[in-house]
Order: sequence, then structure tokens, then C-alpha cells
Amino acid sequence: MPLLEATRLTKDYGEVRVVDDVSFVIHRGETLGLVGESGSGKSTIARMVLGLIEPSSGSVSFDGASITGMPQSRLRPLRRRIQPVFQDPYAALNPRMRVLDIVTEPLVIHEGGSRARHRLKASELLRSVGLDDSALPRYPHEFSGGQRQRINIARALALRPEMLVLDEPISALDVSVGAQVVNLLRDLQRDFQLTYLFISHSMPLVRYLSTNIAVLRHGRLVEMGTRDEICDAPRELYTQTLIAATPELRLA
Ligand code: ADP
Ligand code: MG
Repeated sequence: MPLLEATRLTKDYGEVRVVDDVSFVIHRGETLGLVGESGSGKSTIARMVLGLIEPSSGSVSFDGASITGMPQSRLRPLRRRIQPVFQDPYAALNPRMRVLDIVTEPLVIHEGGSRARHRLKASELLRSVGLDDSALPRYPHEFSGGQRQRINIARALALRPEMLVLDEPISALDVSVGAQVVNLLRDLQRDFQLTYLFISHSMPLVRYLSTNIAVLRHGRLVEMGTRDEICDAPRELYTQTLIAATPELRLA
């Protein structure tokens, strides 16, 4: 059974259909790369997968349970298991909170526990994203974009989720900084057995991280397959154009 299954997802805003009949599955431990130009509907799909917006039709199930139409009270326990990381690492962080509180807020809300335990957990989380205890008393503005995204990722990992929905997580970062964050995501996936929906407009980036790739255009899936099928033998002209439009990535 796949960990996540999206079935015939459609989203209309007024007369405009921004996501049109999109289906995919993601198996445990795998990464589905969702690639498409700006405005193709990627973030709308991410929000439906996270249960933040309801599809106009179609459904999403997580670990066999349909989250579509589920009341907020029942969605809550599922929310812990599937966490988002968004593009803008600054917007996602409360500027008036210290890193210690940012990273442990999900624990405080969902698990309670002592301050000493939270401190310990924060320390562990920061280490797992390549930061250390010196970050704990500081505020978001004291960090670079790459460090802020690491803090976001630490917070996303606080409740030990099984899946991350990564919506253009490095698009706001410089290339070299972004490369480090991508390598971090790769290591974290291995260390914590995470499942990813990785969203990007960059085919080389998607290729680097994905097990399978889905190509989105104007809200519709153009083509979907294994990474090698899509990158080495794309069937659709649009996919070929996307590949040709972006230079090779050097991350290693
Ligand atoms: P992407 O993430 O691929 O750039 P989005 O999913 O953000 O694309 O947006 C897809 C389309 O849906 C865009 O044309 C966008 O303007 C439109 N859209 C997104 N959210 C809304 C909304 N809340 N109301 C109306 N239109 C929206
Ligand atoms: Mg988007």
C-alpha cells in the first residue's frame, strides 16, 4: 500500500480549473518529484495533500485513510505525520520567537513535557540539520537564508513525521547554499526513513532527489514515470523542453 495516494485531484477557483484530474502514489521511503513551471498548480496540489485546502473533486489518502472531507479534529493526528516545508524560510519563521521555541513549538503543542526535555530535543534537532546549540537563544533575523531553511526543517522534523511535503524548499536560496540544503534533505531521508513529495520548477534538482517524477503543465499531468524514464527517455515534447531548458546540476 502506498503511504500517500492522490486520486483524480481537481481544484477550481471560480471558473478556472487550476488542478485537473491529477493522480499519483508515493511509496514509503520514496520521493516523488513534482516538476512544472510557475503557475502550473504545484502549490495547490501540495496544499491539498497537506489537507490545508479541500479539492473540488478527487481525494487524498495517507496510510490508507482518506483525509479528504475529514473533520479538523480527526485531521490533527495525521498532520503530525506529514509536515510541510515551504519556499520562503523567513516567512515561515515567527521573527519574535527564539530558535529554541520555534523548533520545539510542535512538541509543546502536541506532547507537552518538561522544558528540559524540549531543550534536549531542540539540541538534537539542530544537530540533525547541521546547526548547533549556539542557535538556540537567537532569533530568525540573525541567520542566513540557508540556515533559516535548516531551522524550518528542524521544526518540521520535531514530531518525527513520516513524510515531508517540500514546496520549492531551495528556490529562494543561492545555488551553492541550496545545494547544501538539498544534500541535507537527502541525508535526512536516509537517516529518518522519510517519504518526500518534492516540488520544484527545476528538472535537474528533481532528478537529483527523486525516485519517480511527475511533470505538471497547466494543472494536468503531462507524463509520469521513474526518474530514469523521465530524464533519459522522456516521451513528451514538453518534458524534453523542460530538460533542455535547465543546465546540469553539480551538487556532489
Ligand atoms: P505553482 O505552485 O505551480 O506556481 P499554484 O498552485 O500556486 O502554482 O497556482 C496555480 C494557479 O492557481 C495560478 O494561476 C494561481 O494564480 C491560481 N491560484 C492559486 N491559488 C489561488 C487562490 N486561492 N485563488 C485563486 N487562484 C489561485
Ligand atoms: Mg508554488
